[in-house]
Amino acid sequence: MQHKINLLDFSEQGLREWLAQIDQPAFRAPQLIHWLHQQFEDNFDKMLNLPKAFRGWLTENTCIHQLPIQHEHISQDGTIKWLLTVDETNAVEMVYIPELTRGTLCVSSQVGCALDCSFCSTGKQGFNRNLSCGEIIGQLRLANIRLKQLYPNRIKPITNVVMMGMGEPLTNEKPVTTALKLMIDDNAYGLAYRRVTVSTSGVVPAMLRLKENMPQIALAVSLHAPNNALRNELVPINLKYPLEKLMAVCAEYYAGQTKRQITYEYVMLKGVNDTIEHAKELAKLLKKAPGKINLIPFNPFKNSQYQTSDRHQILAFQQYLRDEYVTTIRTTRGDDISAACGQLVGDVNDRTRRIKIFQDYK
Ligand code: SAH
Ligand code: SF4
Repeated sequence: MQHKINLLDFSEQGLREWLAQIDQPAFRAPQLIHWLHQQFEDNFDKMLNLPKAFRGWLTENTCIHQLPIQHEHISQDGTIKWLLTVDETNAVEMVYIPELTRGTLCVSSQVGCALDCSFCSTGKQGFNRNLSCGEIIGQLRLANIRLKQLYPNRIKPITNVVMMGMGEPLTNEKPVTTALKLMIDDNAYGLAYRRVTVSTSGVVPAMLRLKENMPQIALAVSLHAPNNALRNELVPINLKYPLEKLMAVCAEYYAGQTKRQITYEYVMLKGVNDTIEHAKELAKLLKKAPGKINLIPFNPFKNSQYQTSDRHQILAFQQYLRDEYVTTIRTTRGDDISAACGQLVGDVNDRTRRIKIFQDYK
């Protein structure tokens, strides 16, 4: 199957170019996109507006490949975590977070992550490989199909997508960008630009390219520290792209036409980055590129060296920043199934834990 061309790897424009190479008219591109990403059809023979001979050719030469579900865990609060099989030894995770007026899908971009942030379980697991576009957009496709089965009456179960699962999206730029294009394509998923968020730990050159190519996509920057010394320790990519460079790009985003705000993510680590002094330094740092601040209580995982900041400390930190910046505290969802930020591990070695979780929520 893998040697065949995976049709989920193409954006609409990409399909058009490929169709030209195989002497098919360009109007087949939106037709195929519609079947693949709106009808979720897997059987070429049912794509009745395509000529029969072409359907046969597609069956012979192409495939519709997305990562299959290995396990599904439904949390008491409605959050769903899916473990998706990559190969015999690797898996990635995808999380659905339903709220009153919206539904958010948290999508993975890599198997593991090479950037090794000291507080992140995905980083601690190491890096295996990049996901292809088909494997990334396939997550949104699969979630749509599965949610329709689970909740047939929900009209639009997924309104938002955040690239906040496993991996650093901006070190897997091309497949991620193609998948983003499909997310906002009206013939495919038709999500509003501002409802699709790329979260990055600060891969500066790729941030600049994203700004050029897709300026309206929402951006979240994982800051976590207000000075280089501390950020070098927590987010090692800071050694390559220090705060001066990162904040300069953020200022460019801020000054861009759309004037939309960046969200700064800041994990709250007890006794490490959570004092009022840090809050003061942070307030100063963001002066040139103001944005919304999202404080994330640290989510512990096995063998993690940190503790979550005390609640009163998080509130005091928020209180200090609030005068100048909208500052929210992220509520942890899906805690009971380890679906929260930074808890996504996806490896298949720790079976005992996984089987237990699965039994609890089956
Ligand atoms: N690689 C990207 C996106 C994936 S991580 C990034 O770093 O932005 C999504 C968010 O979860 C990031 O803000 C990340 O810093 C945060 N995070 C990672 N580990 C965490 C943990 N253990 N507790 C809370 N947040 C965590
Ligand atoms: Fe990678 Fe993001 Fe985790 Fe850092 S926080 S290791 S960049 S997934």
